[in-house]
Amino acid sequence: MATPVTEPEAVRVRVAGKVNLSLRSGRRRADGYHPLSTVFQAVSVFDEVEATWAEPGAFTVRVLGEQAALVPEGEDNLAVRAARLLATTWGSSRPLGAELVIRKAIPVSGGMAGGSADAAGALLACAVLWDIDISPDELRVLGAQLGADVPFCLAGGTALGTGRGDELAPVLSRGSYHWVLAFSDGELSTPAVFGKFDQLGLGTDPLEVPAEMMNALVSGDVQALSRCLVNDLEPAALALRPELARVVEAGCTLGALGSVISGSGPTVAFLAANEPAAVDLSVRLSSEGLCRAVKRVSGPVPGARLVV
Ligand code: ATP
Repeated sequence: MATPVTEPEAVRVRVAGKVNLSLRSGRRRADGYHPLSTVFQAVSVFDEVEATWAEPGAFTVRVLGEQAALVPEGEDNLAVRAARLLATTWGSSRPLGAELVIRKAIPVSGGMAGGSADAAGALLACAVLWDIDISPDELRVLGAQLGADVPFCLAGGTALGTGRGDELAPVLSRGSYHWVLAFSDGELSTPAVFGKFDQLGLGTDPLEVPAEMMNALVSGDVQALSRCLVNDLEPAALALRPELARVVEAGCTLGALGSVISGSGPTVAFLAANEPAAVDLSVRLSSEGLCRAVKRVSGPVPGARLVV
């Protein structure tokens, strides 16, 4: 007798946001892309994506959390696009649908890959919900079609991204790093920051693997790491949001070893010497009242994972 197939009622996946420890960008190419070399680290601020069965062909999403109003709830939502892509490319034998709920904690348009994290979460949640036999590598290839940061959001940890940032190689990293994140009011759009980058005539050439940073990470040397944090987009982000300079200055004066604007900003990540130093810095920075919120996180943490 055939064993009855029981389908899970709901699948929940937790996905981390990222900071870019190093982000080097070349000049805009003729095809519109900027060649990148970036070192990502997944840090402990998490979105949760929950998927349940829906009518075949129906894909819906509900977003919960303080910044939910900033996230589209229709077909433009990256999690919906991810679920549809998986259904059309891997679910050909039967019509599929999904109802998604996103509990958002990663800042929206904050340079921490929140949308990409939700896409990664939806891919994994729906693959499990629909019982699709897809390998992690195949999931990453699919993820790259949705956005350059999606493969990293699936993998997590610490990784070097090249090309558009989506060609990944794991980076050896020892120990855990303690960060204080300063979340800003308002968003900074990635295309606007790259537009300003072009207008300012910026671009690093050639793009080299940051050897000093690799050495710092492999030896777990937080002081050395703090000296090589770099983001080529920082002048463009600061030109668009000059008030961020005060946040950077405040964090460094209050005891951070180093700082870097994450991705296209406006989130500023401050590296602390250890956990007590991060606690101290987060309390002091909060009381300055310069940012929407201050959050203490650590990294590296894993990428998209089932919540059981
Ligand atoms: P990155 O660091 O990858 O450049 P970001 O973290 O700065 O991106 P996101 O939070 O990914 O920015 O949001 C970028 C845009 O994508 C916003 O305009 C947002 O409305 C839209 N978006 C679509 N789907 C989502 C989603 N599930 N979560 C967040 N933003 C989404």
